[in-house]
Amino acid sequence: MASIKEEFLKVELATEEFDQDEKAYGFDTLALHGGTSPDPATGAMLTPIYQTTTYAQARVGEDKGFTYSRSANPTVSALERRLATLEGAEFCTCYATGLAATAALSLALLRAGERVIVSQAVYGGTVRLLQQVLAPFGVEADFIDTSDEDAIVRALKKPARFLFIETPANPTLKLTDIQLAAGHCHDAGALLVVDNTLLTPALQRPFDFGADVVLHSTTKFIEGHNATVGGALVTKDEKLQERFAFVRNAIGAIQSPFPAWLTLQGVKTLSMRMLWHSKNAVEVARFLESHLRVSSVIYPGLRSFPQYELAQRQQRAAGALIAFEVEGGVKAGIRLMNSVRLCTLAENLGATETIITHPASMTHADVPAKQREAAGITDGLVRLSVGLEDAKDLIADLEQALKA
Ligand code: PLP
Repeated sequence: MASIKEEFLKVELATEEFDQDEKAYGFDTLALHGGTSPDPATGAMLTPIYQTTTYAQARVGEDKGFTYSRSANPTVSALERRLATLEGAEFCTCYATGLAATAALSLALLRAGERVIVSQAVYGGTVRLLQQVLAPFGVEADFIDTSDEDAIVRALKKPARFLFIETPANPTLKLTDIQLAAGHCHDAGALLVVDNTLLTPALQRPFDFGADVVLHSTTKFIEGHNATVGGALVTKDEKLQERFAFVRNAIGAIQSPFPAWLTLQGVKTLSMRMLWHSKNAVEVARFLESHLRVSSVIYPGLRSFPQYELAQRQQRAAGALIAFEVEGGVKAGIRLMNSVRLCTLAENLGATETIITHPASMTHADVPAKQREAAGITDGLVRLSVGLEDAKDLIADLEQALKA
C-alpha cells in the first residue's frame, strides 16, 4: 500500500504540476499560489469545484488519487495543500467545521482512560465536546491556566496524550507561550496542539515554536467573509496525518467542495486582512480604553495588556479581537450590544464585518457558570471582532451605543 506521503504527493500531481520551489516563496505569494496552479485539463485559473461523489477508475485498483469524496476531493485537497504551506507544514486535512476538526483530533489521539489538558479559556464548543460528548466515553479533560508555566508543569506530571491550547484564548485573550508549552509537553511525552484560529498563520506560526498540530476553524479569518463553516488540522508528522485522514474518512467529517473553494478564495487576502483587522482593532481599543463608560479593555496590542511583551514576541500583530466591560455591569453591556447599528450582534468572529458578541449568553453559554468565572469570562464581558470597515465609523457606532 502507498504511504500517506506518497498518497499526498500523488494527489498533488494528479491535479497540477506542483511547484517544488514553493518553500522559497513569501507568505503572500503562497496565499495566492501555494499548492495550486491552473487546471491542466482546461487552463482554468482557479481550482475548479469538483462537485462529484465518485471518480472513474481505469481498472480495479487503478485510480488517479481519488475514489470517493468522503475520503478526498480535489478541491478540498487544493485547500489542504494551501493551508499546510501557509502554516509551514507538510500535511493538512480539512473538515466540515472547526469542531469536526476538534472531534477528529480527539478520536484520532485519545482512548478511554486517557487524559487531555486544555487551556481554561477556550472556545465554548471545545469545552462542550470534551465534557459532554467525550467524557462519557472515558476521556478525561483537565482545564488549566496555560498562561501560567507552573500550572502546565504541574498538569503534565500526570500522563496526558496532548495539551490543547488556544492563544490568544477566546474570549479572554490570555496568551500561552507556545515555545515554553511545547518544551514541557515534549519532555513529558505529550503532544502540543495549538488552536490558531484567532490569529492564523499570517500573524502566528505555531510550528516555528514547536507545536505538533495546528487546528483551525476556517469559518473565521481563514475564509474570512462569513460565508462558510469549515475546519482544518495541520501537521508535519506523517503518522499523525495518516491517523487524521483515517478518522476523517471513518466518521465522515470531510469538508464539501464548495466551502473549500470559497475558502481558497478567501485565504488569498489573509495577511492583508489580518493586518488591517489589527490596525482597526488598535484604534478601537484605544478609543474604548479612553472612554469613561468602559471599565476595562483587554487587547494584546495595548501597553496595558498584562502579556504585552509575549504578544510582541510571539505574534506579528495583535489581531482583531477585543474584550471589554462597560460601567454598569451586565445590564449596561446588554444595552450596548442592543444599541449598535453598524456592528452586528452575532455568534461569529473573524469576518470582514465587525461582530459584537456576549460570550456568557452566546458562544460560551454551555460552559458551566463556575468554569466560566474561573476562566475569567465574566457575565459583563463584551467581545468585539473588529472588521475591515473604516475605524472612524466603528468608533462612532460604539460611541453612540455607549451613550445609550
Ligand atoms: N476554535 C475557535 C477558537 C473558535 O472560535 C471556534 C468557533 O467559534 C471553533 C474552534 C469551532 O469552529 P466551528 O464553529 O467552525 O465549528
